[in-house]
Amino acid sequence: MHRSESIARLSEILQASRRAVVFTGAGISTESGIPDYRSPGGVWSKYRPIDFEAFVTSEDARREYWQRKFDTHETVMQAKPNRGHQAVAQLVREGKVVAVITQNIDGLHQASGVPRERVIELHGNTTYAHCLGCGDEYDLEPIRRSFQAGGTLPVCQACGGLVKTATISFGQAMPQEEMRRATAAARACDFFLAVGSSLKVYPAAGLPVLAKQAGARLVILNREQTDLDDLAELVIYGEIGPTLEAALDR
Ligand code: NAD
Repeated sequence: MHRSESIARLSEILQASRRAVVFTGAGISTESGIPDYRSPGGVWSKYRPIDFEAFVTSEDARREYWQRKFDTHETVMQAKPNRGHQAVAQLVREGKVVAVITQNIDGLHQASGVPRERVIELHGNTTYAHCLGCGDEYDLEPIRRSFQAGGTLPVCQACGGLVKTATISFGQAMPQEEMRRATAAARACDFFLAVGSSLKVYPAAGLPVLAKQAGARLVILNREQTDLDDLAELVIYGEIGPTLEAALDR
Protein backbone atom coordinates (compact mmCIF):
# COMPACT_ATOMS: atom_id res chain seq x y z
CA MET A 1 0.00 0.00 0.00
CA HIS A 2 1.25 3.48 -0.82
CA ARG A 3 2.49 5.57 2.12
CA SER A 4 -0.16 8.28 1.81
CA GLU A 5 -2.90 5.64 1.66
CA SER A 6 -1.59 3.94 4.82
CA ILE A 7 -1.47 7.26 6.63
CA ALA A 8 -5.03 8.07 5.53
CA ARG A 9 -6.21 4.70 6.85
CA LEU A 10 -4.44 5.18 10.17
CA SER A 11 -6.02 8.60 10.46
CA GLU A 12 -9.49 7.18 9.77
CA ILE A 13 -9.06 4.41 12.34
CA LEU A 14 -7.92 7.00 14.90
CA GLN A 15 -10.92 9.17 14.17
CA ALA A 16 -13.33 6.27 14.54
CA SER A 17 -11.76 5.14 17.81
CA ARG A 18 -13.14 6.18 21.23
CA ARG A 19 -10.68 4.54 23.62
CA ALA A 20 -7.36 3.79 21.97
CA VAL A 21 -4.20 2.41 23.52
CA VAL A 22 -0.73 3.17 22.20
CA PHE A 23 1.93 0.56 22.88
CA THR A 24 5.52 1.67 22.33
CA GLY A 25 8.95 0.08 22.07
CA ALA A 26 12.50 1.30 21.73
CA GLY A 27 11.83 2.42 18.13
CA ILE A 28 9.88 5.48 19.25
CA SER A 29 12.97 6.81 21.03
CA THR A 30 15.62 6.29 18.32
CA GLU A 31 14.65 9.67 16.81
CA SER A 32 15.62 11.12 20.22
CA GLY A 33 19.10 9.58 19.87
CA ILE A 34 18.60 6.53 22.13
CA PRO A 35 19.58 3.36 20.24
CA ASP A 36 17.16 0.42 20.23
CA TYR A 37 18.33 -3.10 21.03
CA ARG A 38 17.94 -5.06 17.86
CA SER A 39 18.72 -2.68 14.99
CA PRO A 40 22.27 -2.64 13.55
CA GLY A 41 24.31 -0.45 15.91
CA GLY A 42 21.73 -1.15 18.64
CA VAL A 43 22.73 -2.14 22.17
CA TRP A 44 22.85 -5.86 21.42
CA SER A 45 25.33 -5.53 18.61
CA LYS A 46 27.74 -4.42 21.39
CA TYR A 47 26.67 -6.20 24.59
CA ARG A 48 24.96 -9.35 25.76
CA PRO A 49 22.36 -8.54 28.40
CA ILE A 50 23.19 -9.11 32.08
CA ASP A 51 20.29 -11.10 33.49
CA PHE A 52 18.77 -10.64 36.92
CA GLU A 53 20.26 -13.82 38.36
CA ALA A 54 23.77 -12.66 37.44
CA PHE A 55 23.12 -9.22 38.94
CA VAL A 56 22.04 -10.58 42.32
CA THR A 57 24.65 -13.33 42.57
CA SER A 58 27.83 -11.84 41.11
CA GLU A 59 29.72 -8.74 42.13
CA ASP A 60 31.57 -8.79 38.79
CA ALA A 61 28.23 -8.74 36.97
CA ARG A 62 27.04 -5.81 39.10
CA ARG A 63 30.24 -3.93 38.32
CA GLU A 64 29.77 -4.57 34.61
CA TYR A 65 26.09 -3.55 34.90
CA TRP A 66 26.90 -0.17 36.44
CA GLN A 67 29.79 0.40 34.03
CA ARG A 68 27.42 -0.08 31.07
CA LYS A 69 24.74 2.00 32.73
CA PHE A 70 27.02 4.97 33.13
CA ASP A 71 28.46 4.55 29.61
CA THR A 72 25.00 5.35 28.22
CA HIS A 73 23.56 7.41 31.07
CA GLU A 74 24.23 10.84 29.55
CA THR A 75 22.54 9.89 26.28
CA VAL A 76 19.34 8.95 28.10
CA MET A 77 19.38 11.88 30.53
CA GLN A 78 19.90 14.43 27.76
CA ALA A 79 17.37 12.93 25.34
CA LYS A 80 14.30 15.00 24.56
CA PRO A 81 10.91 13.75 23.37
CA ASN A 82 10.65 13.70 19.56
CA ARG A 83 7.79 14.15 17.09
CA GLY A 84 6.53 10.61 17.76
CA HIS A 85 6.26 11.20 21.51
CA GLN A 86 4.62 14.59 20.86
CA ALA A 87 2.01 13.04 18.57
CA VAL A 88 1.15 10.42 21.19
CA ALA A 89 0.92 13.16 23.85
CA GLN A 90 -1.45 15.12 21.62
CA LEU A 91 -3.72 12.07 21.24
CA VAL A 92 -3.79 11.68 25.02
CA ARG A 93 -4.61 15.38 25.50
CA GLU A 94 -7.47 15.06 23.01
CA GLY A 95 -8.87 12.15 25.03
CA LYS A 96 -8.44 9.78 22.08
CA VAL A 97 -5.78 7.66 23.74
CA VAL A 98 -6.60 6.47 27.25
CA ALA A 99 -3.34 4.71 28.07
CA VAL A 100 0.24 4.54 26.81
CA ILE A 101 1.80 1.16 27.51
CA THR A 102 5.54 1.32 27.03
CA GLN A 103 8.41 -1.11 27.07
CA ASN A 104 10.72 1.87 27.22
CA ILE A 105 12.64 2.82 30.30
CA ASP A 106 13.63 6.36 29.29
CA GLY A 107 10.71 8.36 30.74
CA LEU A 108 10.20 10.27 27.45
CA HIS A 109 6.41 9.81 27.34
CA GLN A 110 6.10 11.59 30.68
CA ALA A 111 8.60 14.23 29.49
CA SER A 112 6.41 14.86 26.43
CA GLY A 113 3.48 15.74 28.70
CA VAL A 114 1.57 12.48 29.05
CA PRO A 115 0.34 12.45 32.67
CA ARG A 116 2.15 9.85 34.77
CA GLU A 117 -1.06 8.00 35.55
CA ARG A 118 -1.66 7.37 31.83
CA VAL A 119 1.78 5.81 31.23
CA ILE A 120 2.23 2.13 32.06
CA GLU A 121 5.93 1.26 32.23
CA LEU A 122 6.20 -2.49 31.73
CA HIS A 123 9.98 -2.63 32.04
CA GLY A 124 10.50 0.06 34.64
CA ASN A 125 12.52 3.25 34.41
CA THR A 126 16.25 3.79 34.06
CA THR A 127 16.33 7.42 35.21
CA TYR A 128 16.49 6.43 38.89
CA ALA A 129 17.50 3.44 41.04
CA HIS A 130 15.85 1.49 43.83
CA CYS A 131 16.62 -1.08 46.48
CA LEU A 132 15.71 -4.64 45.48
CA GLY A 133 14.95 -5.40 49.14
CA CYS A 134 12.87 -2.56 50.56
CA GLY A 135 12.12 -0.50 47.43
CA ASP A 136 13.68 2.77 48.65
CA GLU A 137 14.44 5.02 45.68
CA TYR A 138 17.81 6.62 44.89
CA ASP A 139 19.02 9.35 42.54
CA LEU A 140 21.60 8.12 40.07
CA GLU A 141 23.95 11.06 40.29
CA PRO A 142 25.51 10.23 43.71
CA ILE A 143 25.73 6.57 42.67
CA ARG A 144 27.57 7.59 39.49
CA ARG A 145 30.02 9.80 41.40
CA SER A 146 31.03 7.10 43.91
CA PHE A 147 31.16 4.40 41.24
CA GLN A 148 33.35 6.45 38.94
CA ALA A 149 35.55 7.83 41.73
CA GLY A 150 36.23 4.62 43.65
CA GLY A 151 34.35 1.73 42.01
CA THR A 152 31.81 1.68 44.86
CA LEU A 153 28.76 -0.49 44.19
CA PRO A 154 25.55 0.95 45.64
CA VAL A 155 23.81 -0.70 48.59
CA CYS A 156 20.69 0.48 50.36
CA GLN A 157 21.29 2.87 53.23
CA ALA A 158 18.11 1.67 54.95
CA CYS A 159 18.36 -2.12 54.72
CA GLY A 160 21.71 -2.99 53.11
CA GLY A 161 19.97 -4.53 50.06
CA LEU A 162 21.30 -4.37 46.52
CA VAL A 163 20.49 -1.18 44.61
CA LYS A 164 19.74 -1.45 40.88
CA THR A 165 18.22 0.87 38.27
CA ALA A 166 14.43 0.70 38.51
CA THR A 167 14.23 -1.42 35.36
CA ILE A 168 13.16 -4.99 34.72
CA SER A 169 16.08 -7.16 33.59
CA PHE A 170 15.77 -10.46 31.76
CA GLY A 171 14.84 -13.09 34.32
CA GLN A 172 13.34 -10.53 36.70
CA ALA A 173 9.64 -10.74 37.59
CA MET A 174 7.37 -8.36 35.70
CA PRO A 175 5.83 -5.61 37.85
CA GLN A 176 2.44 -6.98 38.88
CA GLU A 177 0.46 -3.77 39.07
CA GLU A 178 1.70 -2.56 35.68
CA MET A 179 0.93 -5.90 34.06
CA ARG A 180 -2.54 -5.84 35.59
CA ARG A 181 -3.20 -2.32 34.30
CA ALA A 182 -1.75 -3.07 30.85
CA THR A 183 -3.82 -6.22 30.50
CA ALA A 184 -6.98 -4.37 31.52
CA ALA A 185 -6.22 -1.53 29.07
CA ALA A 186 -5.56 -3.97 26.21
CA ARG A 187 -8.84 -5.79 26.92
CA ALA A 188 -10.89 -2.59 27.14
CA CYS A 189 -9.56 -0.62 24.16
CA ASP A 190 -11.23 -0.37 20.77
CA PHE A 191 -7.96 0.35 18.93
CA PHE A 192 -4.45 -0.84 19.77
CA LEU A 193 -1.59 0.94 18.01
CA ALA A 194 1.80 -0.78 18.37
CA VAL A 195 4.68 1.56 17.55
CA GLY A 196 8.43 0.91 17.27
CA SER A 197 8.60 -2.56 18.73
CA SER A 198 9.94 -5.75 17.20
CA LEU A 199 7.18 -7.47 19.25
CA LYS A 200 9.59 -10.21 20.25
CA VAL A 201 9.79 -9.66 24.01
CA TYR A 202 7.11 -11.47 26.05
CA PRO A 203 4.91 -11.01 27.99
CA ALA A 204 4.77 -7.44 26.59
CA ALA A 205 4.28 -8.67 23.02
CA GLY A 206 1.26 -10.69 24.18
CA LEU A 207 -0.70 -7.46 24.70
CA PRO A 208 -1.46 -6.72 21.03
CA VAL A 209 -2.67 -10.31 20.71
CA LEU A 210 -4.89 -9.92 23.76
CA ALA A 211 -6.34 -6.64 22.48
CA LYS A 212 -7.12 -8.18 19.11
CA GLN A 213 -8.75 -11.23 20.72
CA ALA A 214 -10.89 -8.89 22.83
CA GLY A 215 -12.17 -7.18 19.67
CA ALA A 216 -9.87 -4.17 19.21
CA ARG A 217 -8.58 -3.07 15.83
CA LEU A 218 -4.80 -3.55 15.60
CA VAL A 219 -2.33 -1.39 13.67
CA ILE A 220 1.45 -1.80 13.71
CA LEU A 221 3.85 1.01 12.82
CA ASN A 222 7.51 -0.02 12.55
CA ARG A 223 10.28 0.47 10.05
CA GLU A 224 10.68 -3.28 9.56
CA GLN A 225 8.56 -6.41 9.87
CA THR A 226 7.46 -7.57 13.30
CA ASP A 227 6.44 -10.98 14.57
CA LEU A 228 2.74 -10.00 14.69
CA ASP A 229 2.26 -8.33 11.29
CA ASP A 230 -0.12 -11.08 10.16
CA LEU A 231 -2.54 -10.22 12.98
CA ALA A 232 -2.86 -6.52 12.17
CA GLU A 233 -5.48 -4.95 9.92
CA LEU A 234 -2.89 -2.37 8.84
CA VAL A 235 0.92 -2.49 9.00
CA ILE A 236 2.83 0.67 8.18
CA TYR A 237 6.54 0.33 7.43
CA GLY A 238 7.88 3.79 8.07
CA GLU A 239 9.58 6.23 10.42
CA ILE A 240 7.52 6.88 13.52
CA GLY A 241 7.76 10.66 14.00
CA PRO A 242 6.90 11.73 10.45
CA THR A 243 4.21 9.03 10.08
CA LEU A 244 2.32 9.85 13.28
CA GLU A 245 2.62 13.56 12.64
CA ALA A 246 1.19 13.11 9.13
CA ALA A 247 -1.68 10.96 10.45
CA LEU A 248 -2.59 13.65 13.00
CA ASP A 249 -2.36 16.45 10.45
CA ARG A 250 -5.03 14.95 8.22
P1 NAD B 1 13.53 -3.58 19.75
O1 NAD B 1 14.90 -3.00 19.68
O2 NAD B 1 13.40 -5.05 19.81
O3 NAD B 1 12.66 -3.08 18.51
C1 NAD B 1 12.62 -1.77 18.07
C2 NAD B 1 11.97 -1.76 16.69
O4 NAD B 1 11.80 -0.39 16.31
C3 NAD B 1 12.81 -2.43 15.61
O5 NAD B 1 12.01 -3.35 14.90
C4 NAD B 1 13.25 -1.26 14.71
O6 NAD B 1 13.28 -1.60 13.34
C5 NAD B 1 12.17 -0.24 14.96
N1 NAD B 1 12.58 1.16 14.82
C6 NAD B 1 13.67 1.76 15.35
N2 NAD B 1 13.66 3.09 15.10
C7 NAD B 1 12.52 3.33 14.38
C8 NAD B 1 11.96 4.50 13.82
N3 NAD B 1 12.52 5.69 13.95
N4 NAD B 1 10.79 4.37 13.12
C9 NAD B 1 10.20 3.16 12.96
N5 NAD B 1 10.69 2.02 13.49
C10 NAD B 1 11.84 2.10 14.19
O7 NAD B 1 12.82 -2.88 20.98
P2 NAD B 1 11.56 -3.32 21.83
O8 NAD B 1 10.57 -4.03 20.98
O9 NAD B 1 11.19 -2.14 22.62
O10 NAD B 1 12.08 -4.43 22.86
C11 NAD B 1 13.31 -4.49 23.45
C12 NAD B 1 13.48 -4.05 24.89
O11 NAD B 1 14.35 -2.98 24.81
C13 NAD B 1 12.32 -3.49 25.64
O12 NAD B 1 12.09 -4.33 26.67
C14 NAD B 1 12.81 -2.14 26.24
O13 NAD B 1 12.70 -2.21 27.65
C15 NAD B 1 14.24 -2.08 25.91
N6 NAD B 1 14.85 -0.81 25.42
C16 NAD B 1 14.35 0.40 25.76
C17 NAD B 1 14.94 1.56 25.26
C18 NAD B 1 14.38 2.89 25.67
O14 NAD B 1 13.84 3.02 26.76
N7 NAD B 1 14.46 3.90 24.81
C19 NAD B 1 16.03 1.49 24.39
C20 NAD B 1 16.54 0.21 24.06
C21 NAD B 1 15.92 -0.93 24.57
